[in-house]
Amino acid sequence: MIRFFRRKAKGAPPETGGISLRLLQRDWRCTCCGETHRGLMDLAAMAPDPWPEERTYEPNAALRLDSNFLSEDFCVLEGGHFMIRAVLEIPVHGIAQPWGFGCWTSLFRANFDKYLAGFDSGDYGDEVLWPGWLCNRLTGYSEEESEALEVHPRPDRQRPLLIVRSEDSLLGRAQRNGVTADAMLELFSAYGHGPTAH
Ligand SMILES: [Zn+2]
Repeated sequence: MIRFFRRKAKGAPPETGGISLRLLQRDWRCTCCGETHRGLMDLAAMAPDPWPEERTYEPNAALRLDSNFLSEDFCVLEGGHFMIRAVLEIPVHGIAQPWGFGCWTSLFRANFDKYLAGFDSGDYGDEVLWPGWLCNRLTGYSEEESEALEVHPRPDRQRPLLIVRSEDSLLGRAQRNGVTADAMLELFSAYGHGPTAH
């Protein structure tokens, strides 16, 4: 019954009240992990899902292109797959700031090299977007097929923004239409965070 009610609520116009929305607009004590979370807390994937080793970061400066490498911004798999840490934003109805998923996208080697070349200066010239594939699943929003992305590099060492290409996938729809505060709390719950015990 509760489930049905929530589903119905997803298509509703943006809420202006509601317990979930109020909760996400201030700090809240997490009964799952014990921490205090700041409103719409971001979630982050430390490494691309296919990363086969321990999730321990090496310094960016130690980057190796011929084997397995993982730092906070770059990942190389077997010297043949190149990935970068980026941000995928999803608007939340009733909240000005979007929610951010810190996640990884693949890049063609040529674009990975361009990303490296501009990493310190943040200057990517007129280059506005590169194609990529999402390398992390997001519980409740990922389907069988991987998501094709547009990767938008940004200045000032901000991590690139990811735009989902599909307008029909769960994630593509969430990014275009936004999600409710209730849906955000369901997502947090799936990742072990919540204002109530589960
Ligand atoms: Zn928590």
